Amino acid sequence: MTYDILIIGGGINGCAIAREAALNGLSVLLVEKDDLASHTSSASTKLIHGGLRYLESYEFRLVHEALHERERLMRAAPHLIRPMKFVLPHDNAVRPWWMVRAGLFLYDLLGGRSSLPKSRGLRDGDALYRAPLRGEKRGFVYADAWVDDARLTLAMAVDAAQMGAQIATRTALTSATRTLKGWRATLSDGRSVEARALVNAAGPWVPRVATLLDAEPGPGLRLVKGSHIVVDRLYDGEHAYILQQPDRRIVFAVPWLHRYTAIGTTDVPVDTPEQAVIGEDEIAYLIAASNRAFFTQVARSDVRHVWSGVRALVDDGADEARTVTRDYSLVIDDDGAPVLTVYGGKITTARALGEDALRRLAEVLGLPLSDSSRNRPLPGGDATDFESLLSRIRDRYPFLGAMRAERMAHAYGTQLFDMLDRVSNVAGMGTDLGGGLTEIELRWMRDREWARTVDDVLWRRSKLGMAVDDAARERINALLAEPTQA
Ligand SMILES: Cc1cc2nc3c(=O)[nH]c(=O)nc-3n(C[C@H](O)[C@H](O)[C@H](O)COP(=O)(O)OP(=O)(O)OC[C@H]3O[C@@H](n4cnc5c(N)ncnc54)[C@H](O)[C@@H]3O)c2cc1C
Repeated sequence: MTYDILIIGGGINGCAIAREAALNGLSVLLVEKDDLASHTSSASTKLIHGGLRYLESYEFRLVHEALHERERLMRAAPHLIRPMKFVLPHDNAVRPWWMVRAGLFLYDLLGGRSSLPKSRGLRDGDALYRAPLRGEKRGFVYADAWVDDARLTLAMAVDAAQMGAQIATRTALTSATRTLKGWRATLSDGRSVEARALVNAAGPWVPRVATLLDAEPGPGLRLVKGSHIVVDRLYDGEHAYILQQPDRRIVFAVPWLHRYTAIGTTDVPVDTPEQAVIGEDEIAYLIAASNRAFFTQVARSDVRHVWSGVRALVDDGADEARTVTRDYSLVIDDDGAPVLTVYGGKITTARALGEDALRRLAEVLGLPLSDSSRNRPLPGGDATDFESLLSRIRDRYPFLGAMRAERMAHAYGTQLFDMLDRVSNVAGMGTDLGGGLTEIELRWMRDREWARTVDDVLWRRSKLGMAVDDAARERINALLAEPTQA
């Protein structure tokens, strides 16, 4: 069989393209050398946002598109994406008041008729927002959204697979040659497959895959590492802070799993994707940023968890890593056998990138497009809003308990009704493996979400990695090794 397209890379961009292609009836194979979202797409700050600070680099089109995508994604996946208030303490030494006010006004304007509230100044009555702050208590409040980045990637892959796309994890593209009809590719599982077109969506590995394909070099890429630290919760409330730094960068402090605060990110130029490991200098920088802002002081020993990712940014010649564009660029090399390469991008704009990529591929393949994911819910997202979904879940499955009901409702949305279809009590969910994870959920992840290892389960499909011990890891590992029933 010859696939219409072979996609290399199971990050958010590859999965978004697979979804759009499957929706339009194309035959698709996506190969991912590790787990879906195992690299940059699970290492982001997890914001669905326009990017307030991109206004400083006059990236109005990017902010406009991202804000409109924010609205679409919140509708498509209300379980994975939740609105979040951002408090921006004022620092006159970094940016004058008028400039921030004007930026927020523009941000509201570019967002159009958003369902989120408009920005405003911090008020005396905003005790929850102001109390944790050490210094300046004047500032602003605006709204954006938080996302479970890895599960959003997974949701795109699940949707693509439900429409016929084949998803092969732990499968790398090792070589590819042009043929009269397109491409013949060799995969690490020993298969040789044919495709009319290839998509290089390998994120920071794009240049390496381009070398394998002998494709035309597109714009240069800059690899920029970004890291986060997690500490015990620094303040009450479900809002985030956007903290202006003396070097003009911004650092977010975001609520993380109820009990913690995640602080990030950094911008460190690196040479290879394998350098996605936090450095002590980055930890010190993020601790200093936090300690400057909040009464609750943290030390190195308070850091409970860290994560790092490498952004693959389009090289626009910017002087500093922080100002390199976060926009994407798609390049088609149609030298007989087409290959589309994805440069850059954001979690927020991945769906739009998928649509754009498919339009370009359809053009070179001479295929008509019949549909778009613009108004399509993601799996589990066909609910009017999260609160009403959660109350339905709590009513129907009281045995889940409040915490587990909320965690599972966020992770699976309306898919939970399928998972628990025949379950009427807690025993029906099987053994509790630790942290509230039960056998039924683990089997779901294994059989429907490509989970193969303990980390696939604990860090990407759930965020239970900080909640379980080694014994739980062993139980999970043993269950993953059992043969599937399907
Ligand atoms: C620190 C940080 C913070 C960020 N914060 C945000 C944010 O808050 N909001 C936002 O919208 N965006 C954010 N981003 C950007 C966003 O995370 C990225 O744009 C996005 O994840 C890129 O996805 P991708 O699919 O291009 O790359 P990846 O997720 O890296 O996927 C590429 C995949 O290709 C695979 N691959 C490579 N070579 C091969 C091969 N030969 N065969 C098969 N597979 C291969 C890799 O294993 C990898 O999984 C952030 C990024 C970073 C690093």
